[in-house]
Amino acid sequence: MDYDAIVVGAGISGLLSALTLSKEGKNVLVFEKSSFIGGNARSYEVDGYKVDTGPHAITGVPVGPIARLFKKYTDGLPELLPHGHYYFRTCKGLAPVPATVKDWAGFNAISHMDKFVFSSLILAEMIKESIMIDKSERSVYDVVKDCKLSEDALKLIDTLCYLLSGKSMKETPSKRMFAGFGIESIKKMNAIDSLYGLKRFLISHKTGSRQWYPVGGLGKIIETVIEEFPEDMVEVRMDSGVDKILIEDGKAVGVECDGVIYKSKTVIYTGFVKDLGKVVTEKLPSSFSDNIKKIKQAKSYTLWLGLKEKLAEMDYIGSEVWYESGEPYWAIPVSNYDASLAPSGKQLIAFTFVVRDTVEKTKKDAWETIVSVFPDIEDLVDMKHEQVTIPEKAAITMDSFFCGPCSPFFGLYLAGTDTDPRSMGLTRAAHSVEEMLAVMKKKGFI
Ligand SMILES: Cc1cc2nc3c(=O)[nH]c(=O)nc-3n(C[C@H](O)[C@H](O)[C@H](O)COP(=O)(O)OP(=O)(O)OC[C@H]3O[C@@H](n4cnc5c(N)ncnc54)[C@H](O)[C@@H]3O)c2cc1C
Repeated sequence: MDYDAIVVGAGISGLLSALTLSKEGKNVLVFEKSSFIGGNARSYEVDGYKVDTGPHAITGVPVGPIARLFKKYTDGLPELLPHGHYYFRTCKGLAPVPATVKDWAGFNAISHMDKFVFSSLILAEMIKESIMIDKSERSVYDVVKDCKLSEDALKLIDTLCYLLSGKSMKETPSKRMFAGFGIESIKKMNAIDSLYGLKRFLISHKTGSRQWYPVGGLGKIIETVIEEFPEDMVEVRMDSGVDKILIEDGKAVGVECDGVIYKSKTVIYTGFVKDLGKVVTEKLPSSFSDNIKKIKQAKSYTLWLGLKEKLAEMDYIGSEVWYESGEPYWAIPVSNYDASLAPSGKQLIAFTFVVRDTVEKTKKDAWETIVSVFPDIEDLVDMKHEQVTIPEKAAITMDSFFCGPCSPFFGLYLAGTDTDPRSMGLTRAAHSVEEMLAVMKKKGFI
């Protein structure tokens, strides 16, 4: 049988591709090499707790690309709860992550001098980027290195870089960090609005106000997508890794899986773009293969802890970042959003760490850090579950490359977090699918 489209990979990018194309009247065959649907956006049961594939805060859901795709192709998004505050946990307790220049100026977890220097720096970067249009490529380190910030402040900035890009401040572009203060949105405004925009990010912006978490866990997003597949239009094959994407005379003609050939003139690949050369049957042009060699990835280690009772220090809605000693982490007490994610009266927390050394060393340092921050936690542990994952297929680094939806071959499209640099995670995946659909529309496929 010939298919209108074949999708390689059943993560959020592949499933959104299958949903949108099937709703556009195409019959779609999806191949997934693992035994699970959802890739990095799954939820599953462990000893009565429902864990996700890493802690997730989904960006810009009510207005961004996820909302646009769900609005056009489904009956609506699953129920979502506001993420709540982002906090820094310090030896002195929790402090909300500053969201504006004004907040940084009053942020008491760092010294007066650091506060003054860092808030002036943000202001200078905002003005440079949004008004004077500074096009130079600098790392966050390039921006902060001569500012006489203390070791503690540099550690905090480095931790924020790991959170934003998965890489250190030497590898993170300054735009990645300072765009978090609204530079990108201000740039798109007209002169008067941009002044109001600037004012908002100087004094009234809030962190966490654009992030959400689905009731019932991350997997609810995937479930909603699958429920919306039109009858008989989408077939998903599990445990079916695509060995080859067949290219003839520069055109996609199908895929090979377990020695069987499946024909289609449209193939959507959502695996690692950096590995594309190993999957396609014709050689990639050298300009393309040189570019995809630049793709860098980060690795994360997540430790899920089920606790016999709620940890007093984590009785809030939102998430926290630790940077002061040991391994920096980002943690979310997810059952505070939805108590059904943990057995009655218990608590479920995800702690995630960037793997900066070996996985084994990260695991050891991670546990030591958690116990040093929460000395009573060991006695409360009821369930421990570990995950080692690559959160995004391409980290945003100084010379990172995002290829967009078009491969060098006719009919072979690319979607996923290594094709589009905007936003992060699921939102970036949705941007990539929107871009792919736009190209398909232009080419008359949909
Ligand atoms: C610890 C952690 C924290 C995160 N935090 C956030 C967050 O706060 N907010 C957010 O929005 N996102 C977050 N993310 C990122 C988000 O989960 C991912 O970016 C997103 O799920 C990626 O979707 P994808 O479909 O592009 O890729 P994937 O989920 O990687 O899916 C690709 C799929 O393709 C399959 N595949 C690959 N090659 C083949 C082949 N040859 N044949 C068949 N199948 C194949 C793979 O098995 C996989 O299932 C986080 C991720 C992690 C791990």
